[in-house]
Amino acid sequence: AAGAEALRTHVRDVHDFPQPGVVFKDITPLLATPAAFGTVIGALAETARRAGATVVAGIEARGFLLAAPVADRVGAGIVPIRKQGKLPGRTVAESYALEYGTATLEIHHDAVGPGDRVLIVDDVLATGGTAAAAANLIRHGGAEVLGLAVLMELTFLAGRERIPSLDVTALLAI
Ligand code: IMP
Repeated sequence: AAGAEALRTHVRDVHDFPQPGVVFKDITPLLATPAAFGTVIGALAETARRAGATVVAGIEARGFLLAAPVADRVGAGIVPIRKQGKLPGRTVAESYALEYGTATLEIHHDAVGPGDRVLIVDDVLATGGTAAAAANLIRHGGAEVLGLAVLMELTFLAGRERIPSLDVTALLAI
């Protein structure tokens, strides 16, 4: 879409980050451009509204920047899914494999429950490991996962194949 092309111009390639050989898609120029940021929040909010989300779950850290304004627009609550050791209360944790090593995400044990309709929001879908772990955390509490909405999908990493049960909305595909 024409709108997507306009967004793409605000995403910057950073070579060899976070490690040699990786081309990191940096969305900070987009966040700093009011018209582009507004387009993104509007589109994600439309997804949340259509899905009937009552909760928007944001994934640390860039996911928070998108999830908070989306939640506010649709009148939903926001629930943070955080890296290990950041949440103060009792948590549920989910570990998943990275290319080298593992990562762990946590949610407060009582953050979501039966009757909650949850849309997961993050900046980028890469291999899908993060989104899969987030969905497990939300389902653990008995809440319904409506899907995953991201600004950008790195299609060459086939993340969707790792999360077949999730309805994925991506504003940009690379
Ligand atoms: P996955 O678990 O491999 O899908 O990685 C997704 C997570 O890593 C998301 O939380 C993203 O914020 C982050 N991520 C992976 N690659 C990139 C990138 O190129 N740009 C920005 N974030 C990325």
